[in-house]
Amino acid sequence: MYNIPLFDLNFGKEEECAVVETLKSKWISMGPKCMELEKKFAEMLNVRYACAVTNCTAALHLACCALGIREGEEVICPSLTFAATVNCIRYVGAVPVFADICGNDNLCISAKEIESLITEHTKAIILMHYAGFACDMDKIMEIAKIHNLHVIEDACHGPLSEYNGCKLGSIGDVGCFSFFSNKNISTGEGGMIVTNNEEIYNKVKLMRSHGMTTMSYQRASGHAVNYDIVDLGYNYRMDDIRASIGIAQLNKLRDDLKKRMRIREWYIEYLAKLDYVYIPFKDNDEFASNYIFPIVLKDSTAEKRDLLRINLQKKGIQTSIHYPAIHRFSAYKSFSRNLPNTEYVTDNEITLPMYAKLEKDQIKYICESLMNCYRE
Ligand SMILES: *Cc1c(COP(=O)(O)O)cnc(C)c1O
Repeated sequence: MYNIPLFDLNFGKEEECAVVETLKSKWISMGPKCMELEKKFAEMLNVRYACAVTNCTAALHLACCALGIREGEEVICPSLTFAATVNCIRYVGAVPVFADICGNDNLCISAKEIESLITEHTKAIILMHYAGFACDMDKIMEIAKIHNLHVIEDACHGPLSEYNGCKLGSIGDVGCFSFFSNKNISTGEGGMIVTNNEEIYNKVKLMRSHGMTTMSYQRASGHAVNYDIVDLGYNYRMDDIRASIGIAQLNKLRDDLKKRMRIREWYIEYLAKLDYVYIPFKDNDEFASNYIFPIVLKDSTAEKRDLLRINLQKKGIQTSIHYPAIHRFSAYKSFSRNLPNTEYVTDNEITLPMYAKLEKDQIKYICESLMNCYRE
């Protein structure tokens, strides 16, 4: 097995106790713990509304529904992301239009590319804050305003990350978060939608639970007796067991992220000597979640990158690739475009281990191993 895994859960007694307490309460589906998590999350992000859901894929789907994105309309999105960022566009019958990333120093969607892809059919932009570093939000929001487009932020990588002092996920119309096991906040499966728009919030809440006007917790607690089905909704509810884990995780989040910030600094210190790697977002000076730590090899190829990963694995270091570009997948061939910057990064990126418990000597070992493997 690996000596140094890519990621490690930061679970402890807090999560265990939270689950036991919820089990003993005998209310295990969506109820008071979900409401508490939503309230805490909204406060943390400084937004008016937060809505807990089963996962971020559901969050992104509901965001598309709530913004009224329809069949045949175009949505501009990145290809260097996880499939869910783009799948949601197709759930509502809309057409994903891939925009390239900025380059090897900035792996987020390019505002200039977005602007060049707008047509009369464009309805929205879905962007993804890679590793928790912000997209060029000033420019993107300005473009969106001029062309009357909605903006969905896939902020899965960036809880508590900031852009000009604003939290990621709170800048566009809707922000979507994931609490999947390997995210900064882990509940196994889980997600959250945030917005400052009351109309969007009401629609999301309705669609989360069958388009139904009341929830079973409200009925059980005597606040409602009847319900109506007013829209074609889904069951995208979170449960109170997961929500109680989420609350424990939120309490630890800021400390966890501070440790990650320090780990990033160590990486940059050791990697500065290697003139064959780009360190994306190197000059970022705002608070960032550091969900992952990506590097991009200079003057490289996919073959060289893959070999380097195998050699790092032999030294007990687990690495990954973020991401295999979506436009190259079989199910996305027909939406493919020429995306030179995305192509280079998807072939030459390596994701190095990142989690709060990593020690400085482990980072030194990873960077020295990288150096030795590169020379081999
Ligand atoms: C994890 C992730 C998702 C999907 O989240 P789930 O909660 O697993 O559905 C979507 N987008 C990005 C960028 C992610 O990292």
